[in-house]
Amino acid sequence: MKRWRGGALPVFGLLGLVLVSLHLMSGAVQNKEELSRLFMPLLVASMLGLFALLVLIGFNIGQLLLSYRRRVAGSRLTLRMVVVFVVLSLAPVTIVYYYSQQFLLQGIESWFDVKLDRAMEDALGLSRASLDLHKKERLKSTQILLSDLTDTSIAGLSLSLGDMRERFGASELSLFDSAGAAVAMSNVDPTILVPSQPDASILQQVREGNDFVGLDPRGEGSQLEVRVMVKDVQRGFYLQALYPTSSSIADLTETVQGAYNYYKEMAFLRTSLKSTFTLALALVLLFSLLSAIWAAFFSARRLVAPITDIAEGTRAVAKGNYDMQLPLPRIRDELGFLVASFNDMTRRVAQARDDATASQRLVEAQRAYLEIVLGRLSSGVMALDAEGRIQTANKAAHDILNVDLDRFLGMPLDNLAEESVQLKQFVETIREPIAREMRDWREEVKLFGGQGRQVLLCRGTPLAQPEDESVGYALVFDDITTLIKAQRDAAWGEVARRLAHEIKNPLTPIQLSAERLRHKYLNKMSSEDAKVLDRATHTIVQQVEAMKEMVNAFSDYARPPGINSQPLEMESIVSEVLDLYSSAGLQSELRVDLEAAGARVKADPVRLRQVVHNLVKNAVEAAAENAAPCIAVITRVVSEGECKLVELRVSDNGPGFDDDTLSHLFEPYVTTKKKGTGLGLAIVKKIAEEHDGFVWAENRPGSGADVVLRLPLLHPQLKKTARPATAGAGEAI
Ligand code: ADP
Repeated sequence: MKRWRGGALPVFGLLGLVLVSLHLMSGAVQNKEELSRLFMPLLVASMLGLFALLVLIGFNIGQLLLSYRRRVAGSRLTLRMVVVFVVLSLAPVTIVYYYSQQFLLQGIESWFDVKLDRAMEDALGLSRASLDLHKKERLKSTQILLSDLTDTSIAGLSLSLGDMRERFGASELSLFDSAGAAVAMSNVDPTILVPSQPDASILQQVREGNDFVGLDPRGEGSQLEVRVMVKDVQRGFYLQALYPTSSSIADLTETVQGAYNYYKEMAFLRTSLKSTFTLALALVLLFSLLSAIWAAFFSARRLVAPITDIAEGTRAVAKGNYDMQLPLPRIRDELGFLVASFNDMTRRVAQARDDATASQRLVEAQRAYLEIVLGRLSSGVMALDAEGRIQTANKAAHDILNVDLDRFLGMPLDNLAEESVQLKQFVETIREPIAREMRDWREEVKLFGGQGRQVLLCRGTPLAQPEDESVGYALVFDDITTLIKAQRDAAWGEVARRLAHEIKNPLTPIQLSAERLRHKYLNKMSSEDAKVLDRATHTIVQQVEAMKEMVNAFSDYARPPGINSQPLEMESIVSEVLDLYSSAGLQSELRVDLEAAGARVKADPVRLRQVVHNLVKNAVEAAAENAAPCIAVITRVVSEGECKLVELRVSDNGPGFDDDTLSHLFEPYVTTKKKGTGLGLAIVKKIAEEHDGFVWAENRPGSGADVVLRLPLLHPQLKKTARPATAGAGEAI
């Protein structure tokens, strides 16, 4: 509204001014005096106004062409509408102009045609002839009057002048002597005492004997008078009579004369009049035309503005901007309805989009939540589509199958089977239930491959409601290798405990019986028999000792869980055990590097002593096979992530582990020694796990073995700085 007012009002004002100016000009054209006075200023004002209008329209056209070239929205429609408006207004205006000019010129010409000219001249002649006749009549009556006065003396004349004047209807009668001096007079107005003096030329004419008759404008009011002067030759005086003219004759004569003069004047101005009218008409035409063009621009813009808005809005919507709201036009016509409908439509689309985005976000949040849950699951989860292609697999699935399943997303299971022997076994086991779309099945899958034996518990179900068609298959599997192993260990423990109990009981009586036999019969027998008895009882006692040892080891392994933990320094336990070995006369060279002095762990001292003892014993036995046996015991503090651990590393320069032993080293009854029980390292592992620690073994480069135990550090109180975990322990040997 504001824009409309701001743009259109000055133009409307300009149009009004030009219109007023043209109107005044048309009035001035009809008035001779005003024409000369006002015509030129009005003409200049009108032309200036029209020029301003022309500039304005030129500017508008320029702008329109520019936007047309730039393909601004709505410019084409505006141009088309302007052209249509202009053509529509140009045709009638031009026709009206042409015929108006024709009529005007013909009208002006018809004013001055020959007949009218003649009539005017005739009318003038007629009025003049009428006046002449009137004058002649007055001359004649004056001459009669003079002849009537022939016998009267001059003195008598003076007396009878009044009567004569009344009789002949003169307004004044006066007598002049031969010198031209007034002798007697009579006037219709008694207050006038001096006669109207004739001109010297009249007097001269009369003196020469020619009577004078003429019109005298010096009469009363605006009326003409007929002045007659005649000479009395006998008596030598002059008689002057003034007659009032007949008012009608005077008026008519004057009117005719005036009309004739005006006609002549107009006839003289005919050409300029024609060009003035033509100019005025042309200006009016130009005004109408320019007004029409400007009105075309104005109305085209107002009409096109909502359409342009809609076009821009549609473009914005096409680009995905649904928040676009168009300004509603002031006038509630069909275009206004269209704009309102457009706004309504975009509002609804935006609402639908927001709803869709919200539900999409919800779905994504649920999906993310599901992914987090799946990611945190320790069970492997795999989803297959209806064609048996892998759709998703969680992290646990990657870890359990030990393969990057992302590489196989969208691929059939057969591709996965080609990856390794273990995966082939896995796929072959699950293929059948998937193909048959078996519901809620579970199966144990045993996989053998490079990484050893692995047992998986697989479960699966089709991804569909009972009555619906299947859209895929969900597979869940757990690695139960450790569980099975733990169960087996527990079973072993139970067996060992019972066995130890059953075997241990008869051993002491056997040993005692053998010793009694020996004691009672050794001295009574012949030396030959005594030798046999001695050897036999010695063997029995020795074997019983060995069996006791074995049974003790059994009971250690099978001992029920339960430890008496307390904070203690690893260094002190290690030193204690090593002191025992040193005092017992150790054959090997012993290198000790206790870096983790002061580092404390929470442990059962008896169990920890047993661990250190087992590890050192194994190292001593292994190193004994070397010509220059050497063992090294190192403690230090290492970091693993945010965890600090105390490490005990026992190294030797023995033969190391063969591959077969290494893979089952910590299992019970794995031994390469003749008298070995194969329980030492199994017990070490058990104790390590009971103390939240762990143990592993590795071959040293070249020869020799490292067995490493790590337990959580209780308080990080160190006397020396710890070395990094990866530092080679081999440096000690
Ligand atoms: P045992 O000592 O009774 O055999 P262990 O469990 O202590 O039982 O050891 C199991 C086996 O591990 C041993 O028989 C031996 O072959 C191997 N072993 C243990 N420690 C070492 C070592 N330091 N160097 C080489 N082999 C070792």
